[in-house]
Amino acid sequence: MYDEPHLGHARTALVFDTLRRFLVWTGTDVTFVSNVTDVEDKIIQRAAETGATEPDLARRYEAIYWEQLGSLNVDRPDEVPHASAVVPEIVDFIEELVQAGAAYLIEGVGVYFAVEAYDDYGALSHRTTADLLEGAGARVDIDAQKRSPLDFALWKSAKPGEPAWPSPWGEGRPGWHIECSAMSLGLLSDGFDLHGGGDDLVFPHHENERAQAEAAGRRFARHWMHSGMVVVEGEKMSKSLGNFTTLGEVLDSYDPRTLRLLVLQTHYRKPMEMGRAEMDAAAAGLARLDALFRRARVAGIDQSEVEPDPEIVSSFRAAMDDDLNTPGAIGVVFDAVRRANQAIDAEDDDTARRALVTVTHLLDVLGLSAAGEAADGAESPGDERIAAMVAARDEARSAKDFAEADRIRDELTSLGVTLEDTAHGTVWHR
Ligand SMILES: [Zn+2]
Repeated sequence: MYDEPHLGHARTALVFDTLRRFLVWTGTDVTFVSNVTDVEDKIIQRAAETGATEPDLARRYEAIYWEQLGSLNVDRPDEVPHASAVVPEIVDFIEELVQAGAAYLIEGVGVYFAVEAYDDYGALSHRTTADLLEGAGARVDIDAQKRSPLDFALWKSAKPGEPAWPSPWGEGRPGWHIECSAMSLGLLSDGFDLHGGGDDLVFPHHENERAQAEAAGRRFARHWMHSGMVVVEGEKMSKSLGNFTTLGEVLDSYDPRTLRLLVLQTHYRKPMEMGRAEMDAAAAGLARLDALFRRARVAGIDQSEVEPDPEIVSSFRAAMDDDLNTPGAIGVVFDAVRRANQAIDAEDDDTARRALVTVTHLLDVLGLSAAGEAADGAESPGDERIAAMVAARDEARSAKDFAEADRIRDELTSLGVTLEDTAHGTVWHR
């Protein structure tokens, strides 16, 4: 990591955190590994630009990454391997490829993977080597010594001022792709179940990860899942459009749950918009959730000793089992929200309680919570003050001091708070 996390990183992390939570909920034993490729061109370049050392720069941005993901309620992976800590293992891996005839040394440049040595190259990204060669031909190939323009570096010979490690091919550093293959296979072993990532990584990164492993005779990931891009008004994110680019900007302006809800409302494979309009719409959805729980509290409906509704739970599960159809699953949750609201209207406490427990349970599977429900304090700032004002207005009303009650209502309105007077008292939402 060489910069602050942007919205694309946030989306990918949220998709796979949700998948992990769902799998755990279904009783699957999950080992979740997230590779940190802390030795790579962009880190070296950025460090040179800023005058920081590579490890300091990488560590600083990694800390920001985990902190911001934490506020999105993304759980830490079981393992977070760092490429810089496993260079000897990476060297062994490259050695294996050289032995297998799938890699070769260009003196003074580095060790290259020979794409020709792997028949299935291109299968992951649905490309043929002929297509790829045509595309590569258009570029100026700086390495005339490569056997094929598609061949890529496994080991880069040291340049002055760059971090370097010893190897049989002289001092140097690993290429980005081999770092990932070595870490994944090292921790998860051959033929691990699933590899995820953003779809901008399918080619060449994931294609190359797979090629390296399989050319060494090792089965790589048995399944792949790629999440779609984040776009703004149909285009790549751009600051000039006045929209968000970094996750930090979104976290400054919105309750972090808003971003998770927005991500879940889009199928993971589709490109998605994350502009202000979309964020505001998701915030309104979140307000509906929070309002239900406040309403239930006012109506005295607790959630003890009730099991979630099995029918709703199985609809939710069916949606999630269908290629992680989170928009469908969110739809099931909001149906249950509607059911709970109708039951509260009808003063049918048993139905309301059951629907409420179901909503809480399913939100938890998705890594979401209603404000006030979460033990980790998901209430947005200012909620306490608003609740106190609402209580003061209720008091004024029961004392028949309507002027004061109206004054407080106006003040709340100016704060963007909407009040709803119900049979059980006043409920508010933003
Ligand atoms: Zn990778």
